[in-house]
Amino acid sequence: MSEKTTKLPIRRQDILDPHARYKMPTLDVKSKSLGQYGKTYISNVPNVAKALRVDESAIHKFIGLAFNTQIKISNNVLELKGEFTYELVLEELRSFIDKYILCEKCSYPELAYYPKQKFLGIKCQACGLKIKKNLTDKIWKTIHIGETKNPQKSKEKMKGKREVAKKMSETFNKAKKIEINDIKDNNDDDKEDTDEDTDEDTDDDQEVQWSVDISKEAIEERRKSAGKSVIDKLLQ
Ligand SMILES: [Zn+2]
Repeated sequence: MSEKTTKLPIRRQDILDPHARYKMPTLDVKSKSLGQYGKTYISNVPNVAKALRVDESAIHKFIGLAFNTQIKISNNVLELKGEFTYELVLEELRSFIDKYILCEKCSYPELAYYPKQKFLGIKCQACGLKIKKNLTDKIWKTIHIGETKNPQKSKEKMKGKREVAKKMSETFNKAKKIEINDIKDNNDDDKEDTDEDTDEDTDDDQEVQWSVDISKEAIEERRKSAGKSVIDKLLQ
């Protein structure tokens, strides 16, 4: 009983750590038998979502897909068709956290989301990772929609770290040692990329290059951006 009122570590790797830094409310799960089929009610998704700093609609969507069942939300209570135990629901929530809440590089739940026109930008406030997420993924898309309507507080924290992130990016660019030859014929491509990104830019992320991606195009794009930055420096 008392377990339901305590807090749980957000990260799996912290489950046995009583001093875990990142915590969330324990899920409040109740199920009910209704003849042939039952129902499951999760009544505190909004609080869990707040602790995870993500729009609650992403949790609704993930749980519905994970159990392959119909969901309904009434009075902030997530209702699932079918009977599912607390343990099962918690396990799915942990899968959601692993994939969408923890940074894939440092594994801290410090992601800030930046919805762009064609992708979801993600910045890790702990390690500085910046990455684009494709909107063909239903959950990233749901987070994108949620963030567009209701940006999470995590974004505010970025303001202080902006300069640090900029410096890190400059250092990275310098280290790349771009040859001038690489820069010659790139103007058209660069322009295209800029157009794509400016539509929904907010004041505090215009200088960020969303290019930490392992695709061939992204690497090429990064080389170009780095080259541009070297030119900028030479012109200063
Ligand atoms: Zn990170």
